Amino acid sequence: MTLVAEILAIGDELIHGALLDTNSKYLAIELERIGAVVHRFSVTSDDPDQLRSAIADACARADVVVATGGLGPTLDDRTRDVVAELLGGPLQFDAASWTQIQAWLSKRGRPVPESNRRQAMLPPGGTAIPNPVGTAPGFDVRIGRARFFAVPGVPREMHVLAAEYVLPAIAAMPGLTPTAQQWLRILGPSEALLGERIEPFMVPGRNPAVGITATGGLLTIRIVGTANTQEAAAAACEATAKELRPIVREWLFAEGTAELPELVVQQFTKAGRTLATAESCTGGQIAARLVDVAGASSMFAGGVVAYSNAAKVALLGVPQALLDQHGAVSEPVAAAMASGARERFGCDFAVATTGIAGPEGGTAEKPVGTVCFALAGPAGTRPWTVHIPDLGRAFVRDRAVFEIWRTLLAERH
Ligand code: AMP
Ligand code: MG
Repeated sequence: MTLVAEILAIGDELIHGALLDTNSKYLAIELERIGAVVHRFSVTSDDPDQLRSAIADACARADVVVATGGLGPTLDDRTRDVVAELLGGPLQFDAASWTQIQAWLSKRGRPVPESNRRQAMLPPGGTAIPNPVGTAPGFDVRIGRARFFAVPGVPREMHVLAAEYVLPAIAAMPGLTPTAQQWLRILGPSEALLGERIEPFMVPGRNPAVGITATGGLLTIRIVGTANTQEAAAAACEATAKELRPIVREWLFAEGTAELPELVVQQFTKAGRTLATAESCTGGQIAARLVDVAGASSMFAGGVVAYSNAAKVALLGVPQALLDQHGAVSEPVAAAMASGARERFGCDFAVATTGIAGPEGGTAEKPVGTVCFALAGPAGTRPWTVHIPDLGRAFVRDRAVFEIWRTLLAERH
C-alpha cells in the first residue's frame, strides 16, 4: 500500500502565467521527505467549474491532496465554497477561527471588515487549520477517498501551516514509503554520452531509480530509492552511487542535493580559497546567490556591479584604452575586470561577466547573447566568450550566471 499524494495549486494568477507556482515545488520536496508518494501536480484557476473538477479528480485519484490558494477574504477566492458544494452541504461558521482572525487583525491595529468572516467558514465536516501568521485559516476535510488539506497560497503562510499541521498529519497516516535521494553532479560529457555509459542503470522500475537531468551544460544523475525505512532507502541509494562512481569518475565533480552556489561555497571553503566578483550583465546575481548561502562569508569577499564603462574604469581599474579599442563586451575587458576585482578585494580568485543581454545592443559581430567571462586566479587570468542563445534577457543572464558556477566548480583547487 502506498500513500499517494497530489498537489493542487489554485489561482487565476498562476494560470495566466503572472506568478510561478513555487508552492508545489516546496510541497513535493516535503511530502517526499515524509514518505508520501506524489503522483501529480495540477494548477487550476479560481473558476468554480474548473476548480470543482480539479478537486474532484485529484480526490478520486489520491489518498491525500494538498491544495494551496483560493482562501482569501474576497469573492474571487472560492476554494471553501467549491469544497462545500462538492460535499453537498452549506458552509459552516467556525467561531474559533473568527476569534483568531479578529485577534490577528486587531493586534495589528487593522479594522476587521465583515468580508473577513468568509475566512471563518468551513465546509461540512471540515476541521480548521489555525493560521498563526495570517488571517486565512486552512481546513482539513475528507472528500471521497482522499484527505483534503487546503492552505493559503501566500508562500510564507503555506510553509507554516504545512510544517505545523499538514505534514505532521500526513506523516501519521498509514502507507508511507520512505524515500531517499542522492545526486551525482557531472561536468564534461553530453547527455547522450552519459546516458550510454550508465544505460544499464536506467531501466524502468529499477529501485533505486536512476535518471539524468541536464541544466545548461551540467548534468545531474539523480538516484531515488525507496525502502521500508529512511535509512534503508538512503543505503540503497548509496549502494547504487557506489556502483556508478567508478563509471563516471572522470566527470564527477560534486555529490549531494545542494544547489550550485552552495556547492561553490562548500568547495571554496574546504580549499580555504576566497572569491570576488566583477559583474556587468549579471547585475550582481552571482554575488546575491552566493550570499544566499549561509556561511558564504568564509569564502566570498565581495563584488562590484560595474555596469557603465565609467564604473568599470573607476571601480575595477579597467584601462579606458581597452574599452575604446575592444568595447565593453570583449575578452580583454572581462580579463581586466576579473584581475581588477581580484587585486582590489585581495582574493585568490575573481570572476567577471560582461555581455549583451538584449533585447537591444546587439550587432552583427556581437549579437545579443554574446557574453565574455574571465576567471582570475593564482595561475593568471583566463577570459573566454560564450554565445548564449537569444531566448530573452532573463535567459541570457541566467545562463551567464550558470556559466560561472560551472567554471568555479570545475576549478580544482
Ligand atoms: P490566495 O490564498 O489565493 O489568496 O493566495 C494569496 C497569494 O499567494 C497570491 O496572490 C499569490 O501571490 C500567492 N500564491 C498563491 N498560490 C501560489 C503558488 N502556488 N505559488 C506561489 N505563490 C502563490
Ligand atoms: Mg487567490
